[in-house]
Amino acid sequence: MTEPPQTAAKHQGATARANTYRSIYPLRILGMGLGFWLTCSVLMQTGDLARFGWVSLLTMVLWPHLAYLHARTSRDPYRAEVRNLLIDSAIVGLWIPLMHFNLLPSVVLAVVTTHDKFGTGIKRLWLYSLPGMAGMALLGTLILRPEPVLASSLSVIIATLPVIALHSLAVGFTSYRLIRTVARQNQQLKELRQRDAQTGLFARAHWQEQAQAVLEGARSTDRPAWLLMIDIDHFKPINDIHGHTVGDEAIRVVGEVIRESVREADCAGRYGGDEFAVVCADTDEAHALAIAQRIRERIGALRLPELPELQLTSSIGMAQAHSSHQSLRDWLNSADMAMYRAKHGGRNRVAVEPQGSRMRAADGVPVLE
Ligand code: GH3
Ligand code: MG
Repeated sequence: MTEPPQTAAKHQGATARANTYRSIYPLRILGMGLGFWLTCSVLMQTGDLARFGWVSLLTMVLWPHLAYLHARTSRDPYRAEVRNLLIDSAIVGLWIPLMHFNLLPSVVLAVVTTHDKFGTGIKRLWLYSLPGMAGMALLGTLILRPEPVLASSLSVIIATLPVIALHSLAVGFTSYRLIRTVARQNQQLKELRQRDAQTGLFARAHWQEQAQAVLEGARSTDRPAWLLMIDIDHFKPINDIHGHTVGDEAIRVVGEVIRESVREADCAGRYGGDEFAVVCADTDEAHALAIAQRIRERIGALRLPELPELQLTSSIGMAQAHSSHQSLRDWLNSADMAMYRAKHGGRNRVAVEPQGSRMRAADGVPVLE
C-alpha cells in the first residue's frame, strides 16, 4: 500500500532531520581543518605551539570525527548533532584565550561559528550557542590568564584568509541554492493553488480571475464572449446509491471530458461540487454552442469502467457577455438562469441566455431558446 502524501512528506522530513549530522560532517572537517592551520599559526606567533599544539589537534582534527560518531551512535542523532553544534561554539570560545585574544582570528572564528548556526535553520540555535562560547572563553581566561596579543602576524593573516574566503563562498552558494529552491516551490505552489486537485481544471478563484478579464475584454472591445455553466444531472443519487468514491470518479472524468472538449484559448474551471464553468473569449454563438453540445454529448457517452450501466448527463446554460453585466456575478447569474432552464426543460440539454436567441435546435440536439 502506498503512503498518503502527508505521511510520506512527514517521513522524509524526519529522515532528513535524522541525517543532519551526515551533511554537517564534511563541512565540519573542512571548517575545523582550516581552523587547525589558523590556531597553529597563532600558537606559533605566541610561542605556545609546543604547549598547546595537542589542543589544536584534539579540537580541530579529532573533534569532527568524534562529533560524527557521537551523533551516529546516539538514539536521537538530530539532538546529538544540535549538541555538537553547541560544542563547536564552546571550542571556539576556548580558543579565544588560547590565542591570547589575537583579534583577527578570534573575531573571525567567533563570527563564522555563530553564522553557521543561522545556516542550520534551527530556531535560536545561534543565541543558545553564545553562553557556551562566552563561558569557555571566560573559563580559559581564568585558568590560563593569557597576556593579550592583539596584533596578528603575517602568517596568521594568511591562515585566516581561507577561512573567510571559503566560508563566504559556501554561504553564498547555499543562499543561491536556497533562493532557487524557494522560487521553484513558490511557482509550484502557485500552480497548485490555481488547479482543482480532483479534476485538474482551474480552481474557482483562479477561474473567476480569468473570467473577469474576459468580461472586461469583451466589454471594452465589443467582441462576443460566452460563459457556459455545466451541471451534472441527478448527481446526488449517484452518491447515495453507488457511494462517494464513484461520485468522485464521475466528477474526475467529467472534468477530463470538459478539458478535452474546449479549445486551448478557452478557460475551463470547476466552479464547485458537480458544477463546472467555461469561458470562451472572442467566440460567436455558433462556436460557443458547438462547444457546449460537444461537452454535453461527450458527458452522455461517458462510461465508468467499474459501473458501465451508469449514464451521466449534464445541463448546460450559456450566456453571452453583455453591457448590462456590470460584474462577473451578473454574467454568472445569466448563465445560471439558462442552466436552470435546461434543468427544468428536461435536463441533458443546452439553454441559451438571453431567451429568444437566434439559434435553432439542430436536428436531434436539444437546445432551449
Ligand atoms: P440536479 O440535476 O438538479 O443538478 O440534481 P443533483 O442531484 O445533481 O443536485 P445538485 O447539483 O444540487 O447536487 C450536487 C451534489 O454533488 C451534492 C453533493 O453531495 C455532491 N458533491 C459535490 N461535490 C462532490 C464531490 O467532490 N464528490 C462527490 N462524490 N460528491 C460531490
Ligand atoms: Mg447537479
